Amino acid sequence: MLTEYCVIDAKHPDKFILAQAADVLIRGGLVAFPTETVYGLGANGLDSAAVARIFSAKGRPADNPLILHIAEIRDVKELARHVPANAKKLMNKYWPGPLTLVLERTQAVPDAVSCGLNTVAIRLPESLVARGLIRMAGVPVAAPSANTSGRPSPTTAQDVLVDLNGKINMVLDAGPCDIGVESTVVDCTTPVPTLLRPGGVTLEMLRATLGEIEVAPALGDAEDAVRSPGMKYTHYAPAAQMILVEGEYPAAAAVIGDQIAKAQAEGKRVGAVVSAETKLPPGVVAAVYGSRNNPEEIAANLYNALRVFDGEAVDVILAESIPETGLGLAVMNRLRKAAGYRIIKA
Ligand code: AMP
Ligand code: MG
Repeated sequence: MLTEYCVIDAKHPDKFILAQAADVLIRGGLVAFPTETVYGLGANGLDSAAVARIFSAKGRPADNPLILHIAEIRDVKELARHVPANAKKLMNKYWPGPLTLVLERTQAVPDAVSCGLNTVAIRLPESLVARGLIRMAGVPVAAPSANTSGRPSPTTAQDVLVDLNGKINMVLDAGPCDIGVESTVVDCTTPVPTLLRPGGVTLEMLRATLGEIEVAPALGDAEDAVRSPGMKYTHYAPAAQMILVEGEYPAAAAVIGDQIAKAQAEGKRVGAVVSAETKLPPGVVAAVYGSRNNPEEIAANLYNALRVFDGEAVDVILAESIPETGLGLAVMNRLRKAAGYRIIKA
């Protein structure tokens, strides 16, 4: 298949290009498009055959449900059986934006989207390209990140093409995404809403709005504890094995230095994902994700940093951790997954 590539203005998207992309969706095709979080791979969310194409283009595990993207708050009605007061509060405060809500689903939601769960995940994105496309298509748009399953999520159209060129019908290029990590996912079907995945709407913001919020149990270990199917998969990962060093700075930076020296002494080629403040010895393939003091900057650069190792034959990658406040919680969640939970505590 030939993948059509279209540049589109992020702030003033061209209606003709949006109409063309919407037409591809309506005909059952796949369109990669920008959102404020990462690039999404969209299909008509009411068309099971189109949704199945997302799973095969990405190589996505069949039990990992998709988020439905809508253009207006009123579009929730068709998809959710019941909208609890807490969910309404969150919608009014954070939509449009990087927040996904899990609600009880209606029969309108295909099994292909919810993977047999009786719930559906819904988001109203802020990106004008995304909203314009969804509005023109006139249907909810199912859209996971537009990467090959398990690889770092795409934050540019070029990243999308590296993974999916020839496997999708179209990609819209509106430049790099603002936030750089996926949406926050909150389960609103529990008596107290539960944070399933940290993201652009931070835990601090949710707590301020809701008063009370639960955080889903630690990831990576107890399979039973996994509430969101996507949580159990290794994700966002570069090709080489990555080890995350957790702990206070600068002690953790010293441990990274020791680990690098050890690996190099064993003749290994070493990569490192670190902050701008950390000095690396010679010979290390470096991916700098930004200043330690700026979690927004780190979130925006994170996946790009992980893709630095794509063309590099490194044997091992060491990664620096950051404090888990604000967007730092989302960054650390992605780093732990990218490391497949190989963690050294400094
Ligand atoms: P992605 O779009 O690939 O970044 O991931 C969407 C995330 O939302 C995954 O972690 C899914 O497991 C999660 N998700 C989607 N639908 C549901 C649902 N009905 N209940 C719980 N989690 C969901
Ligand atoms: Mg994804």
